[in-house]
Amino acid sequence: MSEYSLVPGPGPVQITSDAIAARVRDLGQRITADYGSRPLHVICVLNGAFPFTADLVRAISIPLTVDFLSVSSYGSRTESSGEVQLVKDLEQSLKGKHVLLVEDIVDTGLTMQYLLGYLQGRGPLSVRVASLLSKPTRRLVDVPVHYLGFEIEDAYVYGYGLDIDHRYRNLPFVTSLRPGESRP
Ligand code: 5GP
Repeated sequence: MSEYSLVPGPGPVQITSDAIAARVRDLGQRITADYGSRPLHVICVLNGAFPFTADLVRAISIPLTVDFLSVSSYGSRTESSGEVQLVKDLEQSLKGKHVLLVEDIVDTGLTMQYLLGYLQGRGPLSVRVASLLSKPTRRLVDVPVHYLGFEIEDAYVYGYGLDIDHRYRNLPFVTSLRPGESRP
């Protein structure tokens, strides 16, 4: 097996680039219709949401602005501990803005709970969430996901922004490991 495998992993979750593109187009149309003439401010959660955000904003056909933040959560490589730390802060104010927070995946929900609290404290007019993936069976806290790409089962996924030890973010599809497997 090569050191850096660019083929899908053996796990149960497989989402092709065509399926992602079709879903992103649908979400973009829904967001365009929902916000209408309201000014939209998109916030990309780095690092994992960068490809999803880049594709999603190009599927939205109303004027918008974009900002970025980055958080790290303590814990093992595949488990979030819920202790979240802001690594890169926003550059623009949220006052008077309708915010769309874009995440790669909602797993336990602890990161999203932290992010929503943080954003609400900065005075936006509204906050909604778009997430490429969600693992509902893993949820520890209830968080809203207004625009969801795909609901998936409990497997460690990577590709299309999601990493294994900072690698594989460039795969154009989402794939997964088998339970108990640590590398493709
Ligand atoms: P939560 O706080 O909801 O448990 O976890 C959110 C974060 O954990 C995500 O933003 C992501 O960085 C990471 N994460 C959770 N599940 C997976 C997964 O299956 N694959 C990868 N690559 N990251 C994950």
